[in-house]
Amino acid sequence: MALSFYCYASFKTRLQVTAQLNHGNNKGLEKVKNLVTKTGVPSITTSPHESLQRGNWVKLICGASFEDVVDIRNLSLVYTLAGVDCIDCAADASVVSAVNEGIEAAIGIVPVRRPWVMISVNDDEDLHFRKAEFDPNDCPPDCSRPCEIVCPANAISLENTSSLVKGGVVTERCYGCGRCFPVCPYDRIRTNTYVRDATATAELLKRDDVDAVEIHTSGRRTAMFEELWNGLGDSVSYLRLVAVSLPDIGEPTISLMNTMYSIMEPNLRCFNLWQLDGRPMSGDIGRGATREAIAFAVRLAAAKDKPHGFLQLAGGTNAHTVQGLRAERLFQTTTISSTSLILPLPFLLIFLPVLI
Ligand code: SF4
Ligand code: SF4
Repeated sequence: MALSFYCYASFKTRLQVTAQLNHGNNKGLEKVKNLVTKTGVPSITTSPHESLQRGNWVKLICGASFEDVVDIRNLSLVYTLAGVDCIDCAADASVVSAVNEGIEAAIGIVPVRRPWVMISVNDDEDLHFRKAEFDPNDCPPDCSRPCEIVCPANAISLENTSSLVKGGVVTERCYGCGRCFPVCPYDRIRTNTYVRDATATAELLKRDDVDAVEIHTSGRRTAMFEELWNGLGDSVSYLRLVAVSLPDIGEPTISLMNTMYSIMEPNLRCFNLWQLDGRPMSGDIGRGATREAIAFAVRLAAAKDKPHGFLQLAGGTNAHTVQGLRAERLFQTTTISSTSLILPLPFLLIFLPVLI
């Protein structure tokens, strides 16, 4: 099994990057330039395509619902300099532009390789595509505001009265993690779920600065997946990679993946990748969150009829994932070789959180 790394930019990292770069007088950018001059940047000689094949592909996940364009531009700049292969972001025109602005700013500092830009969409309700909402006027004045404390994205600001704030939540920053819902003692927080529009997504996919799409699906209703796939039409022919993110639904998972591949295959002109979402958006909750991610890897490794495409572990991965994979004899640090447990195609890429 080949090992790769996926960069999940934690919100602590995001705040640090933004704090460093977001000075109105460009001091932050000058700092980055000076640092790059002093230390250089990693020398990446492989294309994103080659990284996928070698098993050392690195993807930055900005978040399917995260839309703070300043943070996103800054993160894209820093991670492009760090040599990521792909930057995954929300399927929103201004977010895509912010990612590309960050990439161009990085290339302007030093000639680095351009990462692929991936946009994330959904075929049905999905945890990655929701926002928290509440009316701060309904909150008892003596509430100790646990929602504000628990939010990892600094998306809840009861003091803030700017136009960005809707119902106490800065919608651009909320990525739907759900941490705030159970902590509200007065049950004031609502969920606003949404599904990205297929026609608008198709238009985005035709942009020169978009290279890949990630479709989030529950896997339970392949009719919804098929409807979205058909709705994307010939826009998928412009792509370099199509990723499908899905949870482990037990025994039927593998056959469902094969069914979805058969839906995509007639129009698929590029590589495909399966993002195995063991326990969505939970890696930072605690050690146990990685169990589902490892169980998903075990299921795929044992499957006789593996679906075509690269495999990537995602939801539930954390610092304990490697240990769990070792215990299952599913971890190795070598890239593709004759001794790889899973040979091309498919490769099994294990993506782990790397915080910078
Ligand atoms: S769901 Fe709640 S805790 Fe999570 S990012 Fe949104 S506001 Fe913050
Ligand atoms: S925890 Fe609930 S009641 Fe308290 S401030 Fe947050 S949303 Fe309002």
